Amino acid sequence: MSQQGVTPQSEDFSKWYTDVVQKTDLADYSPVRGCMIIKPYGYELWEGVKGGLDRRFKATGHRNAYFPLFIPESFLKKEAEHVEGFSPELAVVTIGGGKQLEEPLVVRPTSETIIGWAFQKWIQSHRDLPLLINQWANVVRWELRTRLFLRTMEFLWQEGHTAHATHEDALEETMRMLGVYADFAINDAAIPVIQGRKSSQERFAGANASFSIEAMMRDRKALQAGTSHDLGQNFAKAFEIQFTDESNELQYCWTTSWGLSTRMVGAIIMTHGDDQGLRLPPRLAPIQVVVVPIFRSDDERGPVVETVERLAGALREAGVRVHVDDRENLSPGFKFNDWEMRGVPLRMEVGPKDVAKNSVALARRDIPGKAGKEFVSQDGLVAAIRERLDAIQANLLQQATEFRDSHLHEVTGGYDDLIRVIKGDEWGLAWFCGAADCEQRVKEDAQAVSRCFPLEQPHPGETGACVICGGEAKEMAYFAKAY
Ligand SMILES: [Zn+2]
Repeated sequence: MSQQGVTPQSEDFSKWYTDVVQKTDLADYSPVRGCMIIKPYGYELWEGVKGGLDRRFKATGHRNAYFPLFIPESFLKKEAEHVEGFSPELAVVTIGGGKQLEEPLVVRPTSETIIGWAFQKWIQSHRDLPLLINQWANVVRWELRTRLFLRTMEFLWQEGHTAHATHEDALEETMRMLGVYADFAINDAAIPVIQGRKSSQERFAGANASFSIEAMMRDRKALQAGTSHDLGQNFAKAFEIQFTDESNELQYCWTTSWGLSTRMVGAIIMTHGDDQGLRLPPRLAPIQVVVVPIFRSDDERGPVVETVERLAGALREAGVRVHVDDRENLSPGFKFNDWEMRGVPLRMEVGPKDVAKNSVALARRDIPGKAGKEFVSQDGLVAAIRERLDAIQANLLQQATEFRDSHLHEVTGGYDDLIRVIKGDEWGLAWFCGAADCEQRVKEDAQAVSRCFPLEQPHPGETGACVICGGEAKEMAYFAKAY
């Protein structure tokens, strides 16, 4: 059996990405162009993402529900900006059961409209508020240029939808969920993200304001990894989501929506991966520890296998995700490379010498070669492994943070400097007035738009001159090429 690694990142990042996704069995192409088959290893990684988020949603008072895949076409047209934004990407069903439908059905590109329709029925009084709902679902957007996980026609995601009595409450929810996404990204996915507000040009179709978490990939391109929207009363008015307030007066609700998708899997791959392949953060890795038994003869085999089974059993019982690679026809060296490519955080080797010495060898994926290898006692192994997994989790976040910070630049040399920074595949932080014309100019000159106005401004309370038009700018924004 031959083994082929992945194309090095420095040679061709895009090829590296495709190699990693396919060779590590995360996903594959489908017979329908632009769609994706998520394989078990990729789906298990997504389940880790789901678990981390779902726990946080429930802890902040949200409940899961499910709404239909099909939406009456007329629903999309009720919110003017929403229909304008989504029309080009819609898949529409016109025939059902062999008959022309009276009203075409849209395959949901997102569910504000149908959930708005349901909320209108569910909400009567201020006592019904806030209404905090989340849905795990698939959505379809007719994309022409697709990439596995990053942009696919059908993708999996969650979409939160909430209704509130006041704008203040809705805005608080919008920011709370942005914070939940950031907390998940940083602490579970080990991805240091920047929280910020999108420009008017880049906001969600139908929102008053959109916020996002932005992550830097290893090719230094930006990836929007989650969004949270303050929808104002736009959808409440379109779908008549009303409640009677404490003085018995009829009021429109204030709504929010927020979403994070299988794109996050792409973000994990491209934040941590290296020339050997994937490097998965232990909290999300489908396999946290892979055990490779090593023996040359049947005499050696018995005690090694017995020790491996005992230790793997103890780790499993302690809640560690362990896999024993007992494939017979492959050499240990092959297995080491294979699991390295698949990004398993920790490798445990057990050979005859280890059995005799009551030890095991551990090798960390985040520290290559001898430096990451050590021998530890079989006594107290669970604690030793937990400690290493925590250390790997922390190290991946630290490496990604250092990498990101070394490629963020506050632009001081005017517009030409901004364009030079973006074209050099770095992120430029500059005063920006927010105007569409200004954003368009950057798009034409550097094929990039603003990523966000970061919530943490470097010069709070100050104003500056827009780096593009020279007009007054109240905030600085990041500009970078993006996925
Ligand atoms: Zn400007």
